[in-house]
Amino acid sequence: MIKLNNIIRSFNGPKGKVAALNDVSMNLSSGELLAVKGPSGCGKSTLLLTAAGMLKPDSGEVLYDGKDNPYNYSPDKRSVLRSGLIGFVFQQFHLIPYLTVKENILVPALSMPDENNSTRAEELISKFGLEHRSDHLPGQLSTGEKQRTALARALFNRPKVIMADEPTGNLDDENADTVMDHLKSYVDDGGAVLLVTHSARAAKFATRTLNMKSGLIVS
Ligand code: ADP
Repeated sequence: MIKLNNIIRSFNGPKGKVAALNDVSMNLSSGELLAVKGPSGCGKSTLLLTAAGMLKPDSGEVLYDGKDNPYNYSPDKRSVLRSGLIGFVFQQFHLIPYLTVKENILVPALSMPDENNSTRAEELISKFGLEHRSDHLPGQLSTGEKQRTALARALFNRPKVIMADEPTGNLDDENADTVMDHLKSYVDDGGAVLLVTHSARAAKFATRTLNMKSGLIVS
């Protein structure tokens, strides 16, 4: 579904260039929950952003469905390609504070008005057990409810891939397991998840694990 071939990506730091990704190749296939682990600074977020079409590599190739290289498209076209393919979940939730739960879930639909959008949002509200919070603002939610809202938003467009950057980082064990159960059932239904995590507990849900060190996949 997503393939990375020989990706090199450096940043300019105070002491010169830092190679965040130093010739990294990987595949993400349908039905996989792929955990990327490794110490802070080893290149996990850079890998996720590069795979997501949001950070152009210095060299190497990113391919979606074996054919589309997102970096060959204009930023606008790339964003359209991304919104149909990828949903995002972050440690900090990134909900819009002045929108209700239902409105947050509808954010991916803003550019695509459709009479079925409201029904789709309600379906997700029910799937994630948020019926009693539908009209609440993010500031009125527990952290578990916030992340379930973010998951519902990520799934709104029925993406083929979810990219999750430390999605359980702000959650207690019970809520973390609930989020991971949802991601697992999404891959069991044919989706694919790229999970960046420090959490051994979250990584146990993975079907495969990549360990990174100093910009390299070491196992
Ligand atoms: P991780 O997600 O594993 O903590 P990152 O991918 O965020 O690691 O970072 C990998 C390396 O690249 C680190 O040395 C980090 O300091 C550097 N880096 C990441 N983003 C930037 C940036 N925008 N500017 C400069 N250096 C960066």
